[in-house]
Amino acid sequence: MASVPKTMGGILIEQTGGSEVLQWKDDIAVPELKEGQLLVKNEWVGVNYIDTYFRSGLYKAPLPFVTGGEAGGVVAAVHDSVSGLKVGDKVGYLSQTRGAYAQYTAVAEEKVIILPEGVTTKTAAASLLQGLTALTLIKEAHYVKPTDWVFVTAAAGGVGTILCEMISSIGAKIIGTAGTPEKMEQAKKNGANYVISSRESPEKIIEEVKRITGGHGADAVFDGIGKATFDMDLEIAARKATVCTYGNASGAVPPVDVMRLAGSKNLKLMRPTLFAYLSDAEDFRKYSSELVDMLKRGIVKLENTSDYKLEDAKAAHDDLESRKTTGKLLLQVPQ
Ligand code: NDP
Repeated sequence: MASVPKTMGGILIEQTGGSEVLQWKDDIAVPELKEGQLLVKNEWVGVNYIDTYFRSGLYKAPLPFVTGGEAGGVVAAVHDSVSGLKVGDKVGYLSQTRGAYAQYTAVAEEKVIILPEGVTTKTAAASLLQGLTALTLIKEAHYVKPTDWVFVTAAAGGVGTILCEMISSIGAKIIGTAGTPEKMEQAKKNGANYVISSRESPEKIIEEVKRITGGHGADAVFDGIGKATFDMDLEIAARKATVCTYGNASGAVPPVDVMRLAGSKNLKLMRPTLFAYLSDAEDFRKYSSELVDMLKRGIVKLENTSDYKLEDAKAAHDDLESRKTTGKLLLQVPQ
């Protein structure tokens, strides 16, 4: 393997704002390794909605910074303290400290998986963050049972696609939303039993869910839209349901009066984050091997990905935020 250079190319955010702040630079310092870290030469980087929150300033990071929370690549160097990984290993990783939109990233060894035969660096970048999100939502936030009615927003999107694939494999019934006829068709292919247009009014969506479920409502609501749909979620939920609001695609949900959960339904309200479910190394190992197993068994298919060059990260963010995309967006890293 070639020796590690001192500088690298990547997308450096010098000030937060719109997608125009995603500028390619070819003289970013390659990160120095700290205890417990290894350096990965990235091949494919996964784009996630959270990358837009750090870019816009909704989530804070010290400037300047490289965004991006997952990638697949090859280990280029390891700190002396790291024993389980070696230079040349093909890996996928999550990075809570970001840094993935670049040629090299320093990552914590406990958030790295060595890729088994048949799982490529592209597959890892396409599946890790959204796949583990979907998996922890259906196992931890609300344990989905075959008898459940489950409501999934953006059912043709990144997390939504994998949620539908996993929930349909359990046998639970899915009511999804999607924004165009093409995306509605895709949501059905992903496993949604019923799909409602997300462009309909909240009143109409509530009415449709009640009609489809014979008045019961949804036993679990998985909502990544946030502010725009939160009030609707509480109406859609069945008695004793879990409302799980897990993202901010339309903005963050404002503070909630807990008395809204009382009344006739006794709802559970969750606002989970993936990294809090995976902060224990044992949980990361358990869920990542379960996800790899689902990839091998074809439950998670990754049939619907869009590739961009890393240099074109701006276009990927523009497309994601304009609600045009389905499935997973990936950035290919120049080697
Ligand atoms: P998606 O591919 O799902 O893209 C977002 C989709 O949301 C759009 O395509 C659109 O679908 C829908 N949408 C509805 N209203 C809006 C709006 N006002 N603005 C933008 N989009 C809207 O993105 P991801 O799969 O990357 O992420 C989905 C959600 O999951 C995000 O909120 C993200 O933050 C969250 N997430 C949370 C994690 C956690 O740890 N809590 C971890 C990972 C992701 P349509 O037009 O079809 O309705």
